[in-house]
Amino acid sequence: MPDLIEIQENVELAPLTTLGVGGAARYFLEVFTEDELAAALVWARENGIDVFVLGGGSNIVVADSGFGGLVIKISLMDICEVARSGDQVEMSVGAGEEWDGFVAFAVERGLAGVECLSGIPGLVGGTPVQNVGAYGQEVSETIVSVRCLDRKSGAMVELANGECGFGYRRSIFNSTELNRYIVTNVKFRLAVNGAPKLAYRELIERFAGQTPNLGEVREAVLGIRRGKSMVIDPADTNSRSAGSFFKNPLITVAKYDELSGLLGEVPKFPAANGMVKVPAALLIENAGFAKGFVLNRAGISTKHSLAIVNKGGAGSDDIVELKDLIRSAVESKFGILLEPEPIFVGF
Ligand SMILES: Cc1cc2nc3c(=O)[nH]c(=O)nc-3n(C[C@H](O)[C@H](O)[C@H](O)COP(=O)(O)OP(=O)(O)OC[C@H]3O[C@@H](n4cnc5c(N)ncnc54)[C@H](O)[C@@H]3O)c2cc1C
Repeated sequence: MPDLIEIQENVELAPLTTLGVGGAARYFLEVFTEDELAAALVWARENGIDVFVLGGGSNIVVADSGFGGLVIKISLMDICEVARSGDQVEMSVGAGEEWDGFVAFAVERGLAGVECLSGIPGLVGGTPVQNVGAYGQEVSETIVSVRCLDRKSGAMVELANGECGFGYRRSIFNSTELNRYIVTNVKFRLAVNGAPKLAYRELIERFAGQTPNLGEVREAVLGIRRGKSMVIDPADTNSRSAGSFFKNPLITVAKYDELSGLLGEVPKFPAANGMVKVPAALLIENAGFAKGFVLNRAGISTKHSLAIVNKGGAGSDDIVELKDLIRSAVESKFGILLEPEPIFVGF
């Protein structure tokens, strides 16, 4: 086993994240197979070292002091068809594949189910973690099962969709079973020659009276996302972010009525347990944080009030200070505590 892996030391993490802040990993290993992953975990356990699993680094904030344990970068690659029945196909995808590469692959082959999730950065293994969603679609709608290494038992397990506890930006992987499972592969069920999903207002309006194909919907989503700097582009400094920094809060109907009394008609989306989801962006703007707001070397994107941006040379302290300022302003004005979406590493 020890020969299987060669652990690096003091590897800078900022370049491996989209926000571009933070220090180094004390130990670092990129794994390409499940055996390498298992060997890395054995090594960490034997040496009493903490582990952090890194995908595309698009949903994390790394502390300036770095991470004192072992960072395992997931690079298990593979996209293949594993089953087909009628107009449904099951695709097995390695956790290390680029998410948007897989979406493009599916769309090019006329496979429907993930087209509205075009342009989301990160890797396939990261998508079940927060049940990635955008433009009216979530990965939980097409995930059949998630193959993981269970750190509790040391065994490989295949969790069916119903066992993953999917909800809005939620799964067992980021809540009840945090840090237990490491995703190595995800199976998706897609519709052969299926129609694109048109559930989001901006898409419905764009294609009013038309029947667009998957490729047209993908291009429309990418266009909308680019307009909001929500596609990673090295030339666009607004995209030096971790995406939306806050989840849209779920509030009671009574709280919603109170909010509408303050702000007028507030857009709402139905959520589980009789709650309603309201846009965090609206609360942030009405708490005094316009697009383009700057604090030290961090700021709010000039195109999207939910994105905290590294304005150049920011440290994690700049990001955290702005996050805290926004949270406390929204809480004191509306009595709603915003929950950050990214994961904080090494804090
Ligand atoms: C510009 C931009 C736009 C974005 N737009 C959206 C959007 O529209 N919708 C949306 O939902 N998200 C969005 N995001 C957030 C982010 O892209 C997703 O959450 C993405 O799925 C994270 O994947 P990752 O591989 O980068 O994970 P990382 O950032 O590397 O990790 C995130 C978390 O997942 C865990 N993790 C990663 N891989 C694995 C694995 N294989 N096994 C177990 N745990 C793992 C990590 O330990 C960490 O806790 C956006 C981000 C950016 C920067």
